[in-house]
Amino acid sequence: MFSREYKTRGFIIARRKQGETSKVITVISKDWGRRSIIVRAARETKSRVGGLVEPFLLVDMVLVEGKSFDTLKDIALVRDYKILEQSLSGFGLGNIMMEILDKISRHETDLDIFGLLIDYLQCYERHRIKLARYDHILVFLSSFIMSILAISGRLPVVDGCAVCGLSCQSEEVVMVSTGLCHRRCLERGEPYLDLDKTTAWWLYKVVTETGDMVMQYDARDKDANKLFEVSIYLFRLFFDKDVESSFFLHDIFKMKKGGNN
Ligand SMILES: [Zn+2]
Repeated sequence: MFSREYKTRGFIIARRKQGETSKVITVISKDWGRRSIIVRAARETKSRVGGLVEPFLLVDMVLVEGKSFDTLKDIALVRDYKILEQSLSGFGLGNIMMEILDKISRHETDLDIFGLLIDYLQCYERHRIKLARYDHILVFLSSFIMSILAISGRLPVVDGCAVCGLSCQSEEVVMVSTGLCHRRCLERGEPYLDLDKTTAWWLYKVVTETGDMVMQYDARDKDANKLFEVSIYLFRLFFDKDVESSFFLHDIFKMKKGGNN
């Protein structure tokens, strides 16, 4: 049987044990979307590649295509983003990003999820001091989610009412799956989320500005929380999937606050 061998760059988002000594890694690859890759003998102590098949690493790989798994033939480290594991808040943030990527990525994707991921990893590095703070983490993650919606063609309308197109400034608005909506334009039975003026403002910012740009603002924790809630709500409406690790992040900060009192 013919097996194609190919090279690609990829970011490892997950790994698990397979059999006695092997690992299976999930990779968002630059050229071929999501790939599941088996790494034979990765858990043997003399393994040369064992340390390179871990989450948060950007690697170049030579792979042999298989039916359900590709097989790793060679690997080299490009860049280590394990900085995301070095603090509790970074770990919380990194896990949410990896979970989201795991849930939306597909094999042979036509979306540039890899490019988006690298952009946000670099953004994280540039703002990592700020990103120890709860409000900044939630704004960052909201920006990340909006960018995913954008490349999926599902960016919410935020510069007016998604139904009638008129300005939302002087009226009460809610959030529906397509974006902001006047309460009076809401269709019967349509799912929606209540929205206050501050959250609508934040939403406009994360939709229209880059990750770097939104990092310049400070938010009150409760406003950042509400923004993140809306982002997760939109994510759930579009992809029909929850983001379970967000609870972990909330717990970390509850713990921290408890410690300060
Ligand atoms: Zn309207």
